[in-house]
Amino acid sequence: MLDEKLTKIERKVIGEIWQSGEMRENHYFMADELGSRFAGTESEKKAIEHMVNKLKEYGYENAHADPFKYYGWTRGPASLTVTEPYQKEFPVISLAISPGGEVEAEVIDLGTGSPEEFEAIDPKEVEGKIVLASSATSPAGKRVHRRTKYGYAVEYGAVGFIFMNHNPGQLPPTGSVRPAYRLGGEIPGVGISLEHGSHMRRLAKGRSLKAKLTNQSRLNPDTESANVVCELEGSSKKDEWIVIGGHFDGHDIAQGAMDNLSGTVVIMDLARALKKYEGKFKRSIRFICFACEEIGVTGSTSYVDKHVDEMKDVAIMLNLELGGLANKDGTQHAAFTLFQPTSLKEKFEEFADEIGYPMTVSTGTSAASDHWPFYMQGIPAVTMGSEPSPAQLIVGRGWGHTTADMMDKVDPRNLQEGVMVIARLVLRLANQEEKIADHTPLEEIIAHLEKTGMKKTLKIQKKWHPHSTR
Ligand SMILES: [Zn+2]
Repeated sequence: MLDEKLTKIERKVIGEIWQSGEMRENHYFMADELGSRFAGTESEKKAIEHMVNKLKEYGYENAHADPFKYYGWTRGPASLTVTEPYQKEFPVISLAISPGGEVEAEVIDLGTGSPEEFEAIDPKEVEGKIVLASSATSPAGKRVHRRTKYGYAVEYGAVGFIFMNHNPGQLPPTGSVRPAYRLGGEIPGVGISLEHGSHMRRLAKGRSLKAKLTNQSRLNPDTESANVVCELEGSSKKDEWIVIGGHFDGHDIAQGAMDNLSGTVVIMDLARALKKYEGKFKRSIRFICFACEEIGVTGSTSYVDKHVDEMKDVAIMLNLELGGLANKDGTQHAAFTLFQPTSLKEKFEEFADEIGYPMTVSTGTSAASDHWPFYMQGIPAVTMGSEPSPAQLIVGRGWGHTTADMMDKVDPRNLQEGVMVIARLVLRLANQEEKIADHTPLEEIIAHLEKTGMKKTLKIQKKWHPHSTR
């Protein structure tokens, strides 16, 4: 519950968010004028400069770019030519962090490329072949990350990897194959649309399908990028930090208007709306727009690595992976996923009751976004996710990671309501008298990851390093 003073502030903050067109303008400008903001591009540099300047304009003198080094990558053309049973070229695009190379081999269809499907066959069957796997939900009903599928293909000795979209629309997917804060990909990987991938599958039925795969992408070790950071100083508990973060980079084949410019503009608008009340909140708030998430959660991992001594002071990390509200089951609602500790669930449910907004609070474990490196430091971590509207008739990642992730898919009102819900949550978290939650000890996290099978997945992805930050 907020006291009278804070209730007044809340009313003004909500009014400010609802009345202002600033977030919408910022969203259009960054998508339409600046572009994808993808790691290593000119667009990324311009976006960093723009965000720092905007936050300064909002009053944050401490807004700055915080640089780090990583394993960079430059997209090159890719091609896929079936050579048997007959010659035919299929349009493909490179997956991010794929090395360049040329391979010619038999194609093996691994279905959705889930661990169960890989483990059901002899690795010798895969060795020396090109693996074809789709982004569909596994036969066991699980959504398996692309990096896991690629990891299995490498582990089994495949020489190439074809990742097929499960959503229609002639949309070959991109996405990274390895965490770029550690290493680059080992075998060339490409994305293919559902339509062309299905064509290949039909050709492969009952006979041998051979293909030549080329990729002219390049890995560039020692590339530099930067996260964008600004801070709002608290009062009586100013040494406790609430971190509100989300990645600003999108993939280079589109605008990444939803994934994750939507989260970025939500963070910036929240920072804007709260700035006027600096000094009125107990805890401090650190807003971070992360770079390079799309290449293996690289910006946030580098941030935690660089600032590891400060992590003990982070009271909670709120990640915005897609900034708006969810539409699942046809109702617009705020969808929170709590990563740790699960004891916070009750607090979030109380919050839902208090503000009277439709809300779901689920628990889960995921390594695939910017909360992850904070989670590994034991920090309470939660994400608010969004889903496309039912009218868009797509499932899973939807338009994300394809050329269709453009501004026309964004619903600005949905985002605006999203910021209002988050503002109300942050005001409560920043001002509650009692501790938000205890940090989780590393041994407990490791035990949880072993029990849930995540350790095995992370090993396959080359992301298992619980005792080092990167
Ligand atoms: Zn994302």
